[in-house]
Amino acid sequence: MIPDSEKLSNPQVTVSTIKKYNFSFQKKFGQNFLIDSHVIEKIIRAAEITKEDLIIEIGPGIGTMTQYLCESAGHVIAVEIDSNLLSILSETLAAYDNVSVINQDILKCDIRGLIDEAEAKRVFDHNKGSVKVVANLPYYITTPIIMGLLENHVPAASITVMVQKEVAERMNAAPGGKDYGALSLAVQYYADTYLAANVPPNCFIPRPGVGSAVIRLTKHPDPPVKVKDEKMMFRLIRASFEQRRKTLKNGIGNAAIEGITKEKTGEILTAMGLDENIRGERLSLAEFAELTDRLLEA
Ligand code: SAM
Repeated sequence: MIPDSEKLSNPQVTVSTIKKYNFSFQKKFGQNFLIDSHVIEKIIRAAEITKEDLIIEIGPGIGTMTQYLCESAGHVIAVEIDSNLLSILSETLAAYDNVSVINQDILKCDIRGLIDEAEAKRVFDHNKGSVKVVANLPYYITTPIIMGLLENHVPAASITVMVQKEVAERMNAAPGGKDYGALSLAVQYYADTYLAANVPPNCFIPRPGVGSAVIRLTKHPDPPVKVKDEKMMFRLIRASFEQRRKTLKNGIGNAAIEGITKEKTGEILTAMGLDENIRGERLSLAEFAELTDRLLEA
């Protein structure tokens, strides 16, 4: 175990490590490294990690949060795209034998295969612990990462991530508000959301130009609503929010989906007891599911 004074969450240790390796930050990889131990502790607490859990960390950077993950979890798989970080990680994580660093793009990575491999090597047993994703995400690919994990049903019990504050607010939003939209509905179809902390730019080097927040998504065992055609529901949701100032029936009418017209949508909204000129941001997930089923039956 590394004493706190030597951990990378000590800003002096971070800076000296970066200097020692002559590491230069790559903006294209969204590299803003955490330098605040309190924030890392909040992330670890929010993720509710046990010694039986397998953690998938996306983008370990120089290994700052990875050190904490190794101390809390059974095993950690850290997927990092930037090969310049590998030699740094082999030194900063040298004290831990429960971590595997994989040099890959997370968007091209076979996460299921990595989990199966961990089970085969007996470093993880799904009967005893859970797979949890924990990350300070590269913000340029937040949505593809999260939606990829959710839509591909990667067997992770939860996803606890640092994201841009506005994105966390959109994921967490309830119907009616300005932040509510297609991302809120998509995330909430798969998971319960919990906003764990707001994080200011001075907790990172270099400082990002935006505020950040930690959000935990806990996967539902079953979706909270039943819908006959999940793909069609999300197509209709995207169409409804395409132009926020348009009514929902106009948005859906403009999407040119075979057999689905603006007029039919208006009639069904009325039959559901809703205003036919309602906007998408006022409909709950259950109402979108009902609208989808009725449009497909009509
Ligand atoms: N976890 C570290 C920390 O908190 O200090 C670094 C977080 S930094 C915001 C994002 C990390 O993700 C960087 O290390 C970056 O190189 C890595 N990254 C960016 N794109 C990636 C991708 N497509 N696949 C895997 N890692 C990626």
